[in-house]
Amino acid sequence: MNAEIYNYIDANLAKMTGTLSELVAIPSVRGKAVPGKPYGEECARVLEKMLSIASSFGFKTENHKNRVGTIDLYPEGEPTLGILCHLDVVPAGSGWRTPPFSMFMSGGKLYGRGTMDDKGPAVCVLYAMKAIKDCGINLSQNVRFIVGTDEENGSSDLAWYKKQAKLPPRVFTPDGSYPVINIEKGMIRGEVTAKCTPNGTKSVLSAEGGTVINAVPESATAEVIGFSDVELALAAKNAGVTSLVSFKKAAAGRTIISVTGKSAHASTPAEGKNAVTALCALLGRLYGDDDSTVMFRKLSTLFPYGETDGKSLKIAASDEKSGALTEVLSILSYSKGVLTGRFDVRFPLCRTVDKIKSGLKSAFSAKDMELTDFSGVEPHETDAESDFVKTLNKVYSDVTGARSGCIAIGGGTYVHDIEGGVAFGAEFPGEDCKIHSAGEFISVDRLKQNAKIFAEAIIRLCK
Ligand SMILES: [Zn+2]
Repeated sequence: MNAEIYNYIDANLAKMTGTLSELVAIPSVRGKAVPGKPYGEECARVLEKMLSIASSFGFKTENHKNRVGTIDLYPEGEPTLGILCHLDVVPAGSGWRTPPFSMFMSGGKLYGRGTMDDKGPAVCVLYAMKAIKDCGINLSQNVRFIVGTDEENGSSDLAWYKKQAKLPPRVFTPDGSYPVINIEKGMIRGEVTAKCTPNGTKSVLSAEGGTVINAVPESATAEVIGFSDVELALAAKNAGVTSLVSFKKAAAGRTIISVTGKSAHASTPAEGKNAVTALCALLGRLYGDDDSTVMFRKLSTLFPYGETDGKSLKIAASDEKSGALTEVLSILSYSKGVLTGRFDVRFPLCRTVDKIKSGLKSAFSAKDMELTDFSGVEPHETDAESDFVKTLNKVYSDVTGARSGCIAIGGGTYVHDIEGGVAFGAEFPGEDCKIHSAGEFISVDRLKQNAKIFAEAIIRLCK
């Protein structure tokens, strides 16, 4: 490990935090497109700021149509290593105790939107490159730092850039966590539709639940007519959801059913309690005099409350490298005889989009339902035994003294569609830096450590 580089980074801490605070001050949430600025004024402004700082350090920079910027360590030479960060952020949201777009330092932590995701890591990459340059370390291969501005809204920046330029054969992004994420499950989003004729005196009138497709829904409600308190309580008991449910009497024999579960990310649904599947389980255990309760019964047999592995949909799958498939019925809407349910599936390396799609189609049609919307991306894997991945793991353990190793995740990172890409940092295992929440931070120590890790990685990979 290079002591000179370490000393340089320690000595330049104030400059690093200064640069980070300049970037945090630009509220680069995706805005309305204007001519020449596809992601709005602020995303263009943060990119321009980053590139002007990089160019003041003596790096060759290029602004690619206000979508992506590139910063090369050397003015010449095809890069063999790419490092990818993003400068756009999610909206501040509520609950902040410090101004989200004015970086605030307290107790060794730097607070502000984007400090960890992903402006802080971007500053670490920039100063790692600067350290290498200013310390006069000569590498035989070039490095290209690629900064995007649309990661938080679907990565159209990268999809566009890939059509304009060839990406380096090895790419890492410090937009995940350590040690190295080399496997990301495939992802499917779809919609199931069912129909019934609600003309009874004991019937489900309406139902809804969930707000976003990639989360376990926290709440769901329904309105039913004609059922007694005893019938409702028994249905809840038989469904095993009594503790989540409350009933409220309404006019004309109607009852409002409210379910409160627990939210979780769609890639780890077992950590949540799905309010939508709990509601369907209850409704399916009511016996009405039309086919509305029958329809919920059928839906509930495909998406039973408490099940997240796709067993009842007959799409369950698992492999040693990437783990088990997960599924979440996340958004429900039912009124006037038409039900739609939106779901999210994360599947392991041993399956393909097509295979899951045909499984879903036959599961739905067996229950008189239809797959009405569907999109999918295949899993991502970069060889754990490649020199690239082994070197990153070694750098991590050498610099931090912590145990290294590859991890597989259910979520998708910025490199999901990049061949040979991995996520490397910048969150440390077991640490929660409040990414996307109020109080997002990076600690000063981690800021320095990340810069050292990236410098070390660049030196070893490009020597
Ligand atoms: Zn990010």
